[in-house]
Amino acid sequence: MSNHHSPVILIVDDTPVNLLLLTQLLAGQGYDVRPVTQGTVALAAARTIRPDLILLDIRMPDIDGYAVCQELKADPETSHIPVIFVSALDDTDDKVRAFECGGVDYVTKPFQPAEVLARVRTHLALAQARAALEMANHELQQALAREAALARIDWLTGVYNRSHFYELATHELAIAIRYDQPLAICMFDIDHFKQVNDRYGHLIGDQVLRAVAQTVARQIRAADCIGRFGGEEFILLLPNTNVTSALLLAERLRMAIAGLYINTEKGEIRVTISGGVTERQPADTLIERLIDRADQALYAAKRQGRNCVVGV
Ligand code: GH3
Ligand code: MG
Ligand code: MG
Repeated sequence: MSNHHSPVILIVDDTPVNLLLLTQLLAGQGYDVRPVTQGTVALAAARTIRPDLILLDIRMPDIDGYAVCQELKADPETSHIPVIFVSALDDTDDKVRAFECGGVDYVTKPFQPAEVLARVRTHLALAQARAALEMANHELQQALAREAALARIDWLTGVYNRSHFYELATHELAIAIRYDQPLAICMFDIDHFKQVNDRYGHLIGDQVLRAVAQTVARQIRAADCIGRFGGEEFILLLPNTNVTSALLLAERLRMAIAGLYINTEKGEIRVTISGGVTERQPADTLIERLIDRADQALYAAKRQGRNCVVGV
């Protein structure tokens, strides 16, 4: 739809005198008129110039208006263009067939200029309103999709937020129970993080949180997932993993963080993490029970002096 230019109208009629009359009438109203005399030419022109509206004769020597209209409607590139039939045929059957082929209106020849103009204006306005509605709907759908993604992500660290993590974990637990597969949960917490904030400020603290979360997120498998559980506490969901493998992973992550130099405007910062790991037991029908045990294991790791992992 041309918003900043005059509407483009394709006129298709094999009788030169009709074509001339319609062209003069519409050009006189400021429309950008493109006259053609053959159905095949009209089809090619519709695809290349993308008119805003088509005035279409029915009886033409090569292919008739009905066939032209059907082809236009079958092509997604041209199906939205309103087609007004202009024909000397004025049987009800002819008119009905024109609408069945996808026409939006019908004008009989000899035509009344004022009537043609009124119908053209109406259908241009309708098409424009429909295009605006489609555009608004498309933008709305995109905004909703963005919103839905944001609702699942912790904005500071880029990992899943707590509520979405719960949703995923609850689903994975049901699968693990159904197929009798192992499932592990790992919880970890940055050691003495309060001191980072106290020494460097909250903004640097935030940067450290992001670096830790992203470093861990990069190390885990695609089937695993990471969520932010609380302030500087993160949680991992490890499908099809037993506690032994989960401990190995937790230890690898602990070492990765211990070896990480986080570049900030206040210099390179190093932190350590402590982790607690557990695996699904037959009695674990709720994910909260696994999370609770992982939390206790984490607490044990803190008591053992931090920068270590504990499995239960
Ligand atoms: P521990 O080794 O026992 O875990 O000690 P800790 O200092 O890490 O633990 P504590 O729970 O005493 O302190 C956690 C700190 O994390 C306090 C809080 O201000 C900080 N914190 C929580 N959320 C955020 C956040 O989003 N950004 C920043 N910068 N700090 C946060
Ligand atoms: Mg901490
Ligand atoms: Mg904490």
